[in-house]
Amino acid sequence: GSPEQVTGIDDLPVRDELRGKSPYGAPQLDVPVRLNTNENPYPLPEPLVERIAERVREAARDLNRYPDRDAVELRTELAKYLTKTGNHRVGLENVWAANGSNEVIQQLLQTFGGPGRTAIGFEPSYSMHALIARGTGTAWVSGPRNEDFTIDPAAAEQAIAEHRPDVVFITTPNNPTGNAVPPETVLALYEAAQAAKPSMVVVDEAYIEFSHGDSLLPLIEGRPNLVVSRTMSKAFGAAGLRLGYLAAHPAVVDAVQLVRLPYHLSAITQATALAALEHTDTLLGYVEQLKAERDRLVAELRAIGYEVTESDANFVQFGRFADAHEAWQKILDQGVLVRDNGVPGWLRVSAGTPAENDAFLDAVRELKKEQR
Ligand code: PMP
Repeated sequence: GSPEQVTGIDDLPVRDELRGKSPYGAPQLDVPVRLNTNENPYPLPEPLVERIAERVREAARDLNRYPDRDAVELRTELAKYLTKTGNHRVGLENVWAANGSNEVIQQLLQTFGGPGRTAIGFEPSYSMHALIARGTGTAWVSGPRNEDFTIDPAAAEQAIAEHRPDVVFITTPNNPTGNAVPPETVLALYEAAQAAKPSMVVVDEAYIEFSHGDSLLPLIEGRPNLVVSRTMSKAFGAAGLRLGYLAAHPAVVDAVQLVRLPYHLSAITQATALAALEHTDTLLGYVEQLKAERDRLVAELRAIGYEVTESDANFVQFGRFADAHEAWQKILDQGVLVRDNGVPGWLRVSAGTPAENDAFLDAVRELKKEQR
């Protein structure tokens, strides 16, 4: 039509696969207690804020120049962090970083997915895997999970054999359900994926620091098609920084550089991330508090009479509700924002500070009384 008749997206010549779709949109509402996006509730400690300011001031002096395109110092420090915490020695050549693990995932799909190719995830899982697949023209297959949200290896292997995906996503601990995937299952799916077609297996460990179990980082040894994806958004309490990274065979690091935009990581981002990594020990101290709060949420929700999915993350999935959206609204009416991920019967709450969690528990206690 003529330009005057354009009233919305569908009047524009957008790609067919984007028509009628909605963007990722967790509500950003101004409520007293926000426990809906798995953020870390603790602001960065003041000494770290000072260190960021110092590092950013230094970086600002060079802002007339493009940043280090290969982010060498940052990748070196990330490799040290992984080596120290992941039971496996990695170096600069094994590590790649980008603006959030969302961008890491996008670069992986641009490299190994794309038109004519297919990716699979076992749902419910992190919804952005499917959305980034769509954005990169990669076909998406929704693989199965059991009623209790665990992955049945036989059913998952069958889906892999049937669809022969180019990229397999395994999120552990899984979002939004919270449960971790046993290493044996990851290995079985890796073997199945290699047998079907040499394909990339992306282990999304966004929440691994909160897990009772260990990182699967050692599995990259001898498995060039296995990628571990990580983020500073959760454990490092730096969601606003936008820094994600991956660990893999050096060939994978070379491959993603075919699609990354030049200078994608700003000098400010690199400086800030480096400052945060200097304070790793303090930040990981908060992780211990959050794990304890997570375990308390699980125990108290069960005591109130809710069903809870086993959690290895900084959030808890609870239910069941005849109408999860109605329950979400009733909790919101009490000033507490949780997440309705569209999993029928279930809601998700992020572990906050002890006071925030108390406010949440009060709200769901009220809700339970009403349901009786
Ligand atoms: N993976 C999973 C499983 C997540 O839950 C998230 C954030 N919600 C991400 C990746 C992306 O995080 P970021 O881009 O902030 O690193």
